[in-house]
Amino acid sequence: MRLRDMYELAVQKGIDADPRGRAAVQRLLDKTRKKYEELKGDDKDEFDVEQLTNPYSDSRISFGDDDTEVNRVLVGVDIDVSEILLAKELERQGTKIDLILSHHPAGKARVRFEDVMKVQADIMAQLGIPINVAEGILGERIKEVGRHLMPANHFRVVDAARLLNMPLMSIHTPADNNAHQFVQKHLDAKSPETLEDIVAVLKEIPEYKQAAKLGIGPKILVGSKEARAGKIVVMMTGGTGGPTEDIAEMVKAGVGTVVEMHLSDEKKKEAEKHHLNVIIAGHMASDSVGMNAILDEFEKRGVEILPCSGIIRVSRATVC
Ligand SMILES: [Zn+2]
Repeated sequence: MRLRDMYELAVQKGIDADPRGRAAVQRLLDKTRKKYEELKGDDKDEFDVEQLTNPYSDSRISFGDDDTEVNRVLVGVDIDVSEILLAKELERQGTKIDLILSHHPAGKARVRFEDVMKVQADIMAQLGIPINVAEGILGERIKEVGRHLMPANHFRVVDAARLLNMPLMSIHTPADNNAHQFVQKHLDAKSPETLEDIVAVLKEIPEYKQAAKLGIGPKILVGSKEARAGKIVVMMTGGTGGPTEDIAEMVKAGVGTVVEMHLSDEKKKEAEKHHLNVIIAGHMASDSVGMNAILDEFEKRGVEILPCSGIIRVSRATVC
């Protein structure tokens, strides 16, 4: 596949699974275009035009020609300079790598990472939290994440990729949208009664089963095995963890159990205080569920997938 075609296909897969729906995403893209057209001078010159067609600031080609032909991709949850060297060593041993794909944003895909968090307000609104409250509690958290990322050495990995002439792409939220929808649909179809049942039902998904064998499978973080789940909500997209205040709002909106990839200690304490049950599905396994949805599309089109750095590769074409 052509590198640009892989990137565009991944973005489309992300929009297809976006919790806001395709029409709402298109409205956001239209607004961005309108803003762009009104820009002048340096503001227009410095604008990242990828935003006009890709609503996910955390997914970009950071290095490589659009026309690069990709036959084999080395895919990892986290890609650093070490994985770029790994790719070169694999090549030395006779395995040609045409592209390195990271899930967690690297390079360009990390600069405005916090922008993708806005979808969390829409997810909260769908749960019945008023949108004004959702946007209000999310706003400061987005700024906090932005401040935290500001001094980072985003282009270190891109500089290494450039020196070794190794194309590099990151696909984050499009994959997380797919994990979010896939796991929610699976839980909705199975209606587990207790927290213990949720863990068992999650392990019907091969990525979670394999993760459990590695000791990194689904776990109950808040609540007991026998506790009844109530309304189960999956929170697996929106960049990173949301504001602490969303816990109390979710309970008020009728949520009994959240299924997350990970949770901060501060939010864990808040969940305990408000009697919100929390299941940690597992970070690497959940990221793998999302990435596999996109990797399947690449594989169907003839690209060989070489997993590394935490990816638990399961091809849905062979399991379903
Ligand atoms: Zn992740």
